[in-house]
Amino acid sequence: ETALQHCSWPLILHFIMFSTSSKKKGEAGCCVMMTHQFPSLSPEQKKELSDIAQRIVAPGKGILAADESTGTMGKRLQKINVENNEENRRYFRDLLFSSDPLISNCVGGVIFFHETLYQKSDSGKLFPQVIKDQGIVVGIKVDKGTAGLNGTDGETTTQGLDGLSERCAQYKKDGCDFAKWRCVLKISDSCPSALAIAENANVLARYASICQQNGLVPIVEPEILPDGDHDLLRCQYVTEKVLAAVYKALSDHHVYLEGTLLKPNMVTAGHSCTKKFTPQEVGMATVTALRRTVPASVPGICFLSGGQSEEEASCNLNAINQVPLHRPWKLTFSYGRALQASALAAWQGKAANKAAAQKAFCTRAKINGLAAKGEYKPSGSADQASVQSLYTASYVY
Ligand code: 13P
Repeated sequence: ETALQHCSWPLILHFIMFSTSSKKKGEAGCCVMMTHQFPSLSPEQKKELSDIAQRIVAPGKGILAADESTGTMGKRLQKINVENNEENRRYFRDLLFSSDPLISNCVGGVIFFHETLYQKSDSGKLFPQVIKDQGIVVGIKVDKGTAGLNGTDGETTTQGLDGLSERCAQYKKDGCDFAKWRCVLKISDSCPSALAIAENANVLARYASICQQNGLVPIVEPEILPDGDHDLLRCQYVTEKVLAAVYKALSDHHVYLEGTLLKPNMVTAGHSCTKKFTPQEVGMATVTALRRTVPASVPGICFLSGGQSEEEASCNLNAINQVPLHRPWKLTFSYGRALQASALAAWQGKAANKAAAQKAFCTRAKINGLAAKGEYKPSGSADQASVQSLYTASYVY
């Protein structure tokens, strides 16, 4: 069974047909239609990748996305009147990473930004070690942001393929076992265009293939922004088209799906849509779109929060995990804003507030761990910071 899981069917069929054929090379007429995969990953490499992916999305676990670029972190800190310098960025990350060892019950992976990977905790330990010592998997953002697609209505692709293989090899040596690359699509009367869908699917697949060669599990993130006044059904339709293109491209690039994770948007109505939808409606639309497009071999789907409030993101994830349809993958969180907003609000840049900020972070992480199992029961007394919208138009990460 293991041999079959780690070897491709076209290759197996190829061997069977050619080894049993008495014809000379080139005469196997029945095989001309057959396509071949030249081996790219060894069974050992495949096993390593699938083991990493499974660890990250073990039951009740999700991902803390702490990979805000320096600029994005600046916007977060500005909201609480804290200067955006290296020490303040380090201090806040240290606060999150050293909050409570029990956090490993609900956080399976942490995504770092390059700078953070080489910073140290107050204890003197490098951050990747702090995370690994808690049994959590270390990840790294490897894309270099978006660039405009000329001739489109402001659509983008994502840059960073040049030198990516070398950077991945170095990150692996420096303790990383997974990576993230974010592509962005938007919904409007003319978007997403066929070009934006095809280009972003292809660049995600190329990135995923390079990561896997270097022992990193790629998180494939085609984020459809919540900007706009479209309704739930339109978001579902677009999400299906985008994901179908992504999985076609991953197949074309021979990406080993068992060693990947998907990070999609939930299917929600546009931010300015006047009609409101319940978590149950969001859950059903999301699971329906995923069931139509994401192969069962993908171990986990880790949603981004996309500007939802902390509480909204938890309730929607919980509803997704209660949809009465078969869901062959883990459905969990990979939240940035929706895991850090209360903690930032409690911290306010003051050392005296450190414990309160850590408590706020742990509370959200535990709630999301429950939501990842469909076991979250809101008490109805969510605090002020957790119900505030975290939406920013045309969000840049
Ligand atoms: P949000 O959860 O804040 O949307 O961000 C997660 C992320 O990593 C986006 O790339």
